[in-house]
Amino acid sequence: MTDLIRLSAADLAGAIARGEASAVEATRAHLDRIAEVDGQVAAFLHVDEAGALAAAERVDRARAAGEELGPLAGVPVAVKDVLTTRGVPTTAGSKILEGWRPPYDSTIVQRLRAAGTVIVGKTNMDEFAMGSSTEYSAYGPTRNPWDLGRIPGGSGGGSAAALAAYEAPLAIGSDTGGSIRQPGAVTGTVGAKPTYGGTSRYGLIAFSSSLDTPGPCARTVVDAALLHAVIGGHDRRDSTSIPQPVPEVVAAARRGATGDLSGVRLGLVSQFSGEGAEPGVMAAFGEALERLTKLGAEVVEVSCPHFEYALPAYYLIAPSECSSNLARFDGVRYGLRVGDDGQRSLEEVMSLTREAGFGPEVKRRIIIGTYALSSGYYDAYYGQAQKVRTLITRDFTAAFERVDVLVSPTTPFVAFPFGSRTSDPYQMYLADLFTIPTNLYGGPAISVPCGLSDGLPVGFQIMAPTMADDRMYRVAAALESAVGTLTPPAL
Ligand code: GLN
Repeated sequence: MTDLIRLSAADLAGAIARGEASAVEATRAHLDRIAEVDGQVAAFLHVDEAGALAAAERVDRARAAGEELGPLAGVPVAVKDVLTTRGVPTTAGSKILEGWRPPYDSTIVQRLRAAGTVIVGKTNMDEFAMGSSTEYSAYGPTRNPWDLGRIPGGSGGGSAAALAAYEAPLAIGSDTGGSIRQPGAVTGTVGAKPTYGGTSRYGLIAFSSSLDTPGPCARTVVDAALLHAVIGGHDRRDSTSIPQPVPEVVAAARRGATGDLSGVRLGLVSQFSGEGAEPGVMAAFGEALERLTKLGAEVVEVSCPHFEYALPAYYLIAPSECSSNLARFDGVRYGLRVGDDGQRSLEEVMSLTREAGFGPEVKRRIIIGTYALSSGYYDAYYGQAQKVRTLITRDFTAAFERVDVLVSPTTPFVAFPFGSRTSDPYQMYLADLFTIPTNLYGGPAISVPCGLSDGLPVGFQIMAPTMADDRMYRVAAALESAVGTLTPPAL
């Protein structure tokens, strides 16, 4: 029974479809695992045992009735707490939403339910998805299953840690500047950021609307592709959703898994030559690149001169959009309300609620964003950052005329110890040095484990042109076939 938790999602779904295990057994095994290890890992903010078992029973009944099951039916999935789940607490890692039970499901969650997956719970995250370590969660940090004294990445550290700790074989994340890929990298799991608009933002609590992208997290590349296919595709309730079918990501991953990359051109970004990155990370990345060339890929160096301005541009655009999006948390409509004693004015209640409900990083972003958008400074900050965004997009477009995908390490450093980057915000922001350009451009990118540095996982990033998500899955699966999956020390 316990080995059900070690199976890939594809294998677990196969076992359920063939009747070798029931969906209820699979769900129970994962709930037991959560009960066993989550006291140490703290990946979950909420475990929905009753909801999960009811969903699993529906799958078992459907199978008994001879109904055709989807490719992930009966498979447990952990959902980042930034996506609304009807009647199930949704906090986005913030005190300001404590106690809120949304009256509706996000599109991603609707699609997960329709596919017969079993939502086991909501995972921890940095407050409103701002951060790279989960240390900014109002509910305490998640610990990395590889070393409980280290961060699991962020903002979606709970989703990544749940995978690495075998609490769920699949998870959902959201990536605004790296929050799927960076936690994937530092926990030795796979995280894919789809093309912006390829997955629906309906019911995703907004951080930076022009960047936010929900996506799949898994322990294998094929599993991530299977999940991507279930959650992706057009949604008329999201105005920036792309009205096209999901690229053939599962077929591409299966093709890549055969280990043949002949004819594939990999672009090595010269601006990411390793400056600011740990030597152990660059060494693992270099070895992985060599493996890919042995599979037939060709490596071409490409220059993306504006990538070095991506981080400052992002830290104007994302806070600007966040300052607008977070204005809705006013103590009237959702969750927390402070100081409503019948004497105070509405403004006072709003101000007391926001003072008590938001943590320091969120406040910092709101202040920066409000400043960057204020009249007199708008052109110098927000306007300038938008111009940089255009130049970065042009760098990508020019690069993709010469190569099929771009490659880099996912993060400059491996999982760091708690507290080591919280005193200086810039040190935390550096975690996303290599992931942010893709978000500004809008293309897809994936992180796949490529080895260890000092016993900790290193992620390999593959960036593809918009709507060529299939391409990155092919390369990622080929790399996985050469490296294998990484297993954390016993937990
Ligand atoms: N770490 C980045 C930030 O703090 C990215 C977060 C994300 O992708 N949600 O903004």
